[in-house]
Amino acid sequence: MQRSKALAESSVKTKEDFISNMSHELRTPLGAVLGFNDLLGKTILTTEQQEYVSAINSSGESLLMIINDILDLSKLDAGKLQVENEIFSLPEFMRSIEVMFAIQAKNKNLNFSVNTDSAINFNVRGDVMRLMQILINLTGNAIKFTEEGSVVVLCKVQNETATAATIEFVIKDTGIGVATHQHEMIFERFTQADNKITRKYGGTGLGLAITKDLVELLGSKLEIHSEEGAGATFSFCLNFEKANAEIQIANVESEISAVDHNDKNILVVEDNLLNQKLTSIILSNNGYHYSIASNGQEAIDILKNKTFDLILMDIQMPVLDGCQATGIIRKEMHLQIPIVALTAHAMAGELEKCRQHGLNDYLSKPFSEKELIRKMNYWLTDHMAISSRITDLSFLRKQTRDNEVVIKEMATTFVHQIPEDILKIKKSIAAGDFHKIFDGLHAFRNSIGLFGFPISITELLLEMENNANAGKALGTIKDNFLLIEEACNKAVLEMQAEIKSKS
Ligand code: ADP
Repeated sequence: MQRSKALAESSVKTKEDFISNMSHELRTPLGAVLGFNDLLGKTILTTEQQEYVSAINSSGESLLMIINDILDLSKLDAGKLQVENEIFSLPEFMRSIEVMFAIQAKNKNLNFSVNTDSAINFNVRGDVMRLMQILINLTGNAIKFTEEGSVVVLCKVQNETATAATIEFVIKDTGIGVATHQHEMIFERFTQADNKITRKYGGTGLGLAITKDLVELLGSKLEIHSEEGAGATFSFCLNFEKANAEIQIANVESEISAVDHNDKNILVVEDNLLNQKLTSIILSNNGYHYSIASNGQEAIDILKNKTFDLILMDIQMPVLDGCQATGIIRKEMHLQIPIVALTAHAMAGELEKCRQHGLNDYLSKPFSEKELIRKMNYWLTDHMAISSRITDLSFLRKQTRDNEVVIKEMATTFVHQIPEDILKIKKSIAAGDFHKIFDGLHAFRNSIGLFGFPISITELLLEMENNANAGKALGTIKDNFLLIEEACNKAVLEMQAEIKSKS
């Protein structure tokens, strides 16, 4: 028995290594395809050529999505996905789902609504990223498989104690539905209800398999109620611990638009010739000076004679790999230059492993020009300069897997909605209507939550909300709201710049 157990374990390990290496092998050339295509798109092209470039881009992006899905499954199989326990606000989270899908639903003329139980007036602890992945898959499917009628997403309290709450999530559509005998098979990998689906809607049949596993990872079960032609309802319940602390706004990385690179020197450590070329074109197009090393040992030799401001380090390389080289740079050469790993290995625990070797950050391949420049700007900029910004879109970027279209839509909603909300709240303050002030401030705090406002602002809003709820301190609310308004005006300008940069 011991022997067969060892054999089973080793075959799981072999499979895991195989998928991890395969993904590396696939993502590296795909990165070069997407990257060069991106550069090609920036040259002067005829309209026809421009169309070919966007076709290559969208096919490449879908291939990348499939590879990412397969990787997710392999991580789930290997039990390598750890459940995170972050504090977050469910109303804010649901609002992000609403904004993310509003335009897609409108384009199909569907009635789309996201309803969050008003009894959820507490923050919770849970795995917000996985929950986002689950709701994105289910809501995306609901919109995809519905031609007319509505899609409704509900988030309601099922059970509540002083310290915990059971929350039910329901995604309901009036679309094509799933026949009863197909209820089990649609959760299997690479399986769709029937062949017509692939022809009409595309897809790989992986989304529900991943979603089901993720729901189970979070300790629940994904249920389906549906009949052919009569719409579908997917639901699951999650237990959350209540959290009283204010939400931690992700502040890992910030957006900086203008950085003076003329005096910055970058060392690119990369063995793959295509990737060397791609990275150097991006760097020279953006005005950086750079040197190239083909492996870790070459990098160390170059570092002995020249100083650099940033190292972009591949991980898998011959002679001396990225992790070993980083170890030497930190422990033997005692250099503190920021090192960003560029890695095609997107397996679980990757970032942690990199950090243990002294790497500061990592960017997973394939990356776009924008992603690389953003990451470099962060590490090359004096971090003091960042604090003068009000918004920080890194949280949103992570949650939407850097979906520029969604980010632009959210920024547009922000620019229209925020000035209106401010006006409404000011009117209620002038009228001294505490009830309306509270409602206005509460909704307002939910709306701005995703845009990474500084904690000082959200804390101030919370204090004002508490005062309004207690019906006191109207004068202080009025004064403080001036500060909030000033910050929001600045945030609106930042979002306008964001929209412009994407036009
Ligand atoms: P994909 O969307 O890539 O086809 P999924 O795993 O997400 O793969 O879904 C598997 C199948 O389940 C779909 O092909 C479709 O047949 C069915 N399905 C999923 N969601 C819905 C829905 N909301 N309405 C009708 N059918 C659905």
